[in-house]
Amino acid sequence: MAIPDYADERSYKFFSRSLVGTKHGEGGTGYCVSWNTSAEGLEPTAVYPNCTCIYCGNRANPIQAGLRRPRSTYIGEDDRDYNVTGYACCCKGAMDEGEHKLKVAELKERHAQELEALEKQRPTPDPEVFKAFAEDMARQMARKALDRFKWGKDPVKVARRLAEQARGD
Ligand SMILES: [Zn+2]
Repeated sequence: MAIPDYADERSYKFFSRSLVGTKHGEGGTGYCVSWNTSAEGLEPTAVYPNCTCIYCGNRANPIQAGLRRPRSTYIGEDDRDYNVTGYACCCKGAMDEGEHKLKVAELKERHAQELEALEKQRPTPDPEVFKAFAEDMARQMARKALDRFKWGKDPVKVARRLAEQARGD
């Protein structure tokens, strides 16, 4: 396999070149280029349900994000997750999509920080004004309560009228 001709330069880092040794009859050292399914920074790009890239129409390559975890140190044991976690194409459109997503994420992050900074500048109520308001309310309520006691001196009558008032009669 070679890096496909439709691959964008930005995708080259997702391919790995491994030595396959001297090939018989070729008289040189052979390399094998392969798609690195667990490359750092490899994120899914838009594909149709049949894994066709929506930008170039080529078949997208699988991603195995679970393989980014290092292999268990026990010999012969490999408990890594081999599941295919998504697909990514290596074309210009797919690379543009990745850059666009990063820009959107950066902008959202900056926006959130700016909002937070602005929130700190939000004007706060003056406790003295609130105290004056609460005192005024208390005075008004006290006056109303006193007015009720003007209705009569009989505490039972006053209590009944207060109860009637509370019911809305
Ligand atoms: Zn593509």
